[in-house]
Amino acid sequence: MTKFSAVSLLKNALTGHRNWTEQWPDSQPKEEYDVVIVGAGGHGLGAAYYLAKEHGITNVAVIDKGWLGGGNTGRNTTIIRSNYLYDESARLFDHALDLWQDLSQELNYNVMYSNRGVLMLAHNVHDVQSFKRHVHANRLNGVDNQWLTPEECKEVCPPLSLRKDARYPVMGGALQRRAGTARHDAVAWGYARGAAARGVDIIQNCPVTAIRRHPDGSVAGVETARGFIRARKVAVSAAGHTSVVMDSAGVRLPLESYPLQALVSEPVKPVFPCVVMSNAVHAYISQSDKGELVIGSGTDQYTSYSQRGGLPLIEHTVAAICEVFPVFNRMRMLRKWAGIVDVTPDRSAILGKTPVKGLYVNCGWGTGGFKATPGAAHTLAWTVAKDEPHPINAPFTLERFRTGRLIDEAAAAAVAH
Ligand SMILES: Cc1cc2nc3c(=O)[nH]c(=O)nc-3n(C[C@H](O)[C@H](O)[C@H](O)COP(=O)(O)OP(=O)(O)OC[C@H]3O[C@@H](n4cnc5c(N)ncnc54)[C@H](O)[C@@H]3O)c2cc1C
Repeated sequence: MTKFSAVSLLKNALTGHRNWTEQWPDSQPKEEYDVVIVGAGGHGLGAAYYLAKEHGITNVAVIDKGWLGGGNTGRNTTIIRSNYLYDESARLFDHALDLWQDLSQELNYNVMYSNRGVLMLAHNVHDVQSFKRHVHANRLNGVDNQWLTPEECKEVCPPLSLRKDARYPVMGGALQRRAGTARHDAVAWGYARGAAARGVDIIQNCPVTAIRRHPDGSVAGVETARGFIRARKVAVSAAGHTSVVMDSAGVRLPLESYPLQALVSEPVKPVFPCVVMSNAVHAYISQSDKGELVIGSGTDQYTSYSQRGGLPLIEHTVAAICEVFPVFNRMRMLRKWAGIVDVTPDRSAILGKTPVKGLYVNCGWGTGGFKATPGAAHTLAWTVAKDEPHPINAPFTLERFRTGRLIDEAAAAAVAH
C-alpha cells in the first residue's frame, strides 16, 4: 500500500496518477477468524484498526451487508463535539475528540477534521439555564465550552439573525471551539486502509444472517450469505440493524430504529464558518468544503427500516433554518437522504460485553455517534482484546437498563447530534 506523502503525490502526479495501488483488497471470507466484526461503518472498521494496531490481533474480518461506509457513517452531517452533560458521556466523547485532532496523521489519510467550533443557540430562559449548566459541568470535566452573548454569537457566525422580534430570538449560545466536522467517507476509508494494511479482511456485500452459539452458550461464529464463518469472538456494530443481528444470538436489546434525514443545498461560496445547532427550533447547519449547506433533520415519529424518511420532517427543518437564518430563504435544496439510527431509552450507547461469552456490542449511538467513532472504536477494541470493559466504556453497559443506572442524555440535551 502506497504511503501518502509529498514525494508520493508528486511522483504519481508526474506519472498521470496511473500507478496508485488499491487502497484495500476486496477480501474473500476465510473459514475461521479470531474476531469477526459485523458492520463496516466507522465504528466497526475503527475497532478492527485498533485491534490490529494496539493489540496485535490481526486475524480479523469486518463483514458488511453492503459497501463499507454505506451505512450511517456515510450519511451523517458530521458534527463532532464533546460537550455532553454527564461525566460518563463527557469522558467518552472527549476521548474521541482528542483522537480526532490528529486522526489524519495517525491514519496517513486526510479525514479533513476541521475544528471550526460548534455553537448551540439558546432561544428561551430554559435554554439559557440549561446551556450554562452544561458549560459549568463541562469545565469541571476539563471539556472546553464557553457561554457567549448574542453579539458574540453573531461575531462567531455572521449569517445569524439577531432580530428582537423573531419568533425565537437568540439569547446567547454555548460554543465549543475545539469541536467541528470531518469528512465522513474518509473516516471509513482511512480506518479500512489502516486495518487492511495490518492484515484485516474487509468483506463487503455479505449479509450476516445469524450469530451461532456453541452448546455451552458461547459464541461459535456467524452465518452469512457466503456460508458459516467460525470465530472465537464476534463484535456487532451494525447501527440500526444491531437489534436484529443480536436477536439471532438470543440477546434482546432495548433499541428502536428510526429513519433520520439530512439534506444539502446548492453549493455557494464560503458563508458559514462554524456549526450551529438550535435545539429549541430544531435545526442544525454547517457548510461543506464543496460549498453546500449541510442541514440535519430530526428522527421520524415512527420506527422503520425504510431508509427514506417522511417529508413533514424535512419541511419542518427547512422552516426552522429560515427562522434562524432568514438570509438563506431563497436557497435551493439539492438532495435529501436518510439513515436508520439505533435509539436507546436514555439516548446513550451500549458498548462492551454482552451476557453471551465472546459476543460484544457497540450500538445505540442514535443520532450522534459519528463524533464518537475513534473513541468508541478504540475502547471497543480494548474490550474485545482483553475481554474486559475499558475504564471509559465501562458505564455504557446493557445492564444499566435493568439496574436503572441510566446516562440520561435524552433529558439533558433534547437532541443529541
Ligand atoms: C442523517 C444522519 C445525520 C447524522 N448526523 C450526525 C452528526 O452530525 N454527528 C454525529 O455524531 N452523528 C450523526 N449521526 C449518527 C451517526 O451517523 C451514527 O451514529 C454513526 O455513523 C454510526 O456509525 P456505525 O459505524 O456504528 O454505523 P454504520 O455506519 O451505520 O455502520 C453499520 C454497518 O453495519 C452494516 N450492517 C447492518 N446489518 C448488517 C448485517 N446483517 N450484516 C452485515 N452488515 C450489516 C451496515 O450495512 C452498515 O454499513 C447521523 C446519522 C444520520 C442518519
